[in-house]
Amino acid sequence: MGASPIRIRNYIGGALREPASREYLDDFEPATGRVYALTPESDEADLADACVAACEAFAGWRATPSAERARLLDDLAARVEAEAEALARAESIDTGKPIRLARDVDIPRVSANLRFFAAAATQFASEAHAMEAGAINYTLRQPHGVVACISPWNLPLYLLSWKIAPALAAGNCVIAKPSELTPMTAWLFSKLCIEAGVPAGVLNILHGTGPRIGHALVTHPTVRAISFTGGTVTGRHIARDAGPLFKKLSLELGGKNPTIVFGDCDWEKMLATSLRSAFSNQGQVCLCGSRILVEAAVYERFCDEFVKRVRALRVGDPLNPDTEQGALVSKTHLEKVQGCVARAREEGGRILCGGAQLVLDDERCARGWFMSPTVIEGLTPDCRTNQEEIFGPVVTVQPFVDEDEAVAQANCTPYGLAASLWSSDVRRCHRVAASLEAGIVWVNTWMLRDLRTPMGGTKASGIGREGGAEAMRFFTEPKNVCIDYA
Ligand code: NAD
Repeated sequence: MGASPIRIRNYIGGALREPASREYLDDFEPATGRVYALTPESDEADLADACVAACEAFAGWRATPSAERARLLDDLAARVEAEAEALARAESIDTGKPIRLARDVDIPRVSANLRFFAAAATQFASEAHAMEAGAINYTLRQPHGVVACISPWNLPLYLLSWKIAPALAAGNCVIAKPSELTPMTAWLFSKLCIEAGVPAGVLNILHGTGPRIGHALVTHPTVRAISFTGGTVTGRHIARDAGPLFKKLSLELGGKNPTIVFGDCDWEKMLATSLRSAFSNQGQVCLCGSRILVEAAVYERFCDEFVKRVRALRVGDPLNPDTEQGALVSKTHLEKVQGCVARAREEGGRILCGGAQLVLDDERCARGWFMSPTVIEGLTPDCRTNQEEIFGPVVTVQPFVDEDEAVAQANCTPYGLAASLWSSDVRRCHRVAASLEAGIVWVNTWMLRDLRTPMGGTKASGIGREGGAEAMRFFTEPKNVCIDYA
């Protein structure tokens, strides 16, 4: 307490640098509401330096043997593992997420991502097509050059690593922009890169706001491809800005994911998992199930038992290892979520539990941005509460009569990111999974992730897929070479 704020710096050309503007943004600890760090407000001048550094590094990096690129990514993974506790703590402080979640999920996934794409660097292969007439085509997969990786605040280092690891593995140089709300672990990671000897300019990390440095990055002529994860509105801006410049785009956007519960499911597993899928990270995971659709015959039972469990969730100081629900990422976001609850009431929703800000009886966190987990029923599928992403600890429950109605309700939003489906009828599971408009369908589980599988959404949830070979393909340009040997 009272310590001067940590001053975060950009990582450009292998060095930690102040922003050219010398301007900084406040970085808040959501659990306390206090400013504890300062984030560079980067601009075109920093971007120009990063572009020069990245361009200069590119020839060397693309020529670096893939085994050496893999070694470096593995080395970074080992450094993340060695610093896991400090990184988890930093992530928890910066985002408000429970430290248990940062320890069990966020940080282990960072090293897993780095290791996975280290292996991909050496395993990635391309296609060949032989022609009967005596010719052969083969596809060269070459790195683009300089690429941009823009990530959101909800899983800061986890999603940053999910992008930069394949980009680097494929031989690109990267300019990354973490969210201005949660810059801390990217800054700590840049120090690990220096310790690991990542060649200068291969990875650059610029901090700052979306409209300023984010927009400049997206439109800069040096940047050939953009991998973006964030909100659908921002994705639309980026598509509009980058489309006419013909940059390659991967957009991982918002969701309004259904959890579909049939009465014949494994009830206990479904209840425990639905609770997690609704409220993990205070509902601030793009894959969270925020609309729970329940077969009418078991609807009352579900609501009773689910609400009991929601009420029992421990909301508290994110640094307490027993805490299950931490703080929301910002005051603005808390107000937005509260506004969504007020609107749900106006739309005729009944609040079964929660619905309000929570002031913790805890000296350290008394001014934090906490909210009690909220369950709402009585809304129509087409109301705004059920159509728009809230991205907070708020779920709705709705009954359905049969499979057709379940699928219609599940598909009736503009989004199509993920769905989870609960039933023990294997034929129904396959049928419904095939009918859902979603990039990912989990059956009798949620968030079970295999890094080889395609990750992304349909409709307003995005364009393209990340993960496994999809990511390696995105970060490379295919070139067909046709050889006539007849
Ligand atoms: P956001 O769109 O506000 O910001 C994401 C990033 O984009 C930030 O780094 C921000 O600074 C930057 N940005 C903002 N405006 C920009 C612009 N004009 N040009 C370039 N960059 C710009 O999203 P957020 O609030 O940080 O994250 C929450 C959203 O992310 C939710 O909608 C959530 O569903 C989504 N999300 C999606 C996935 C997925 O895999 N589909 C994963 C996590 C989060």
